[in-house]
Amino acid sequence: MAKEFLSKNNIHYIEKNISLDHEAMQELQSRNIQGVPAFLIGEDMVVGLDQQKILKLVDHRVMKCQNCSQKLRVPVNKGNIDITCPKCSHKNTVNTVSL
Ligand SMILES: [Zn+2]
Repeated sequence: MAKEFLSKNNIHYIEKNISLDHEAMQELQSRNIQGVPAFLIGEDMVVGLDQQKILKLVDHRVMKCQNCSQKLRVPVNKGNIDITCPKCSHKNTVNTVSL
């Protein structure tokens, strides 16, 4: 469910399994967090799938270049912007309000 939400919103993420990843477990413990799923966005931690909070914190989306499928980081709520692909130099015009 969390994964579905993240991919539906084109949010790039790294999944960590705390039962296998000791470091990730310690990260949670150091923040006094017991519940999962927990989402670390920059320095902010969201416990549970609080979609509004997560979307607010994630200030960019990852989208693919329309020409070569290179992954691009796109800021949100910046109106219509052109993003030049670093790989193929294709100009992607993106309406960032609807992202
Ligand atoms: Zn490209």
